[in-house]
Amino acid sequence: MLKTLIAALALAATLAAGGWAANAQGETPPPAPSDTRVRFAVVKTASLQTQEWLLFSGGRFAAAETAFSAFLIQHGEDSFLFDTGLGAQVGAQYQADMPGWSQLFFRYDAPVQPVKAQLDNAGIGPIRRIIISHAHWDHLSGAPDFPDAEVWLAPSEHDLVNQPSQRVGGAWPSQVSGVTRWKDIRFDGPAHEGFEVSHDLYGDGRAVLVPMPGHTAGSVGLFLTVESGRRYFFVGDVVWNAGALKHGAAKHWLARQLVDQDVDQTQVAIERIRAAMARDPQLIVVPAHDANVHAALGLFPAWVE
Ligand SMILES: [Zn+2]
Repeated sequence: MLKTLIAALALAATLAAGGWAANAQGETPPPAPSDTRVRFAVVKTASLQTQEWLLFSGGRFAAAETAFSAFLIQHGEDSFLFDTGLGAQVGAQYQADMPGWSQLFFRYDAPVQPVKAQLDNAGIGPIRRIIISHAHWDHLSGAPDFPDAEVWLAPSEHDLVNQPSQRVGGAWPSQVSGVTRWKDIRFDGPAHEGFEVSHDLYGDGRAVLVPMPGHTAGSVGLFLTVESGRRYFFVGDVVWNAGALKHGAAKHWLARQLVDQDVDQTQVAIERIRAAMARDPQLIVVPAHDANVHAALGLFPAWVE
């Protein structure tokens, strides 16, 4: 009995010390157990058959599928989208704003199944908040389909959306003009998982945004802890394919020049993802475009919980 008591006290002391150490570093502690239901669904809107070597440096000469997905997050009674994938107007947007030469490299295959239509069919909505990982065409495309929703972005993404441009690394006029309610993410929280600041969306540590500048100045990642306690990290386009994380590989050199606003900063973000994975081998990293990762999670209407 005494032995059990001593063991219990030792365990409690260890946990307390661990918690204290985490706080002393200015990091947010892991979320406490909660009754709030947190889950997400991968809503794939389109895809593109491509080659792995085009996606990251060192990729194989083998077929690879790029997905254009939105992520529907549910936290208790609230829901929001992280990215939108391709929307109902993508044909017209692409026609208007994708430069001709870029159409050789940056494409999508038909059919497109916009997230708005998929949610409507399932009777889910209304969606009042969309958080974009960044303002590139294949993430913002579906936002105009939700005219009443607030679109949240990092303040450092303002330059892109305030000066929309017809280029693959810009924010497109045809999409920006369709958003009426922009809202800034306030990074008012402490360091989180190696990122300097954070924003805890619900104040319970279950859905935490972090800045990941590089691919664009205002790129944003989302740490999500679902009901089962499993942890996910949505990283937008810091990497296009989870394979890149094995070796810390950047995108193919041409893609890097075309789409990564700051190549060095992007590499810093990649290393931070790798560090988070090393600390927690159970952490599942979800790039916005990795069709294999999305398929393994299961596609909407399936939920990850
Ligand atoms: Zn993208």
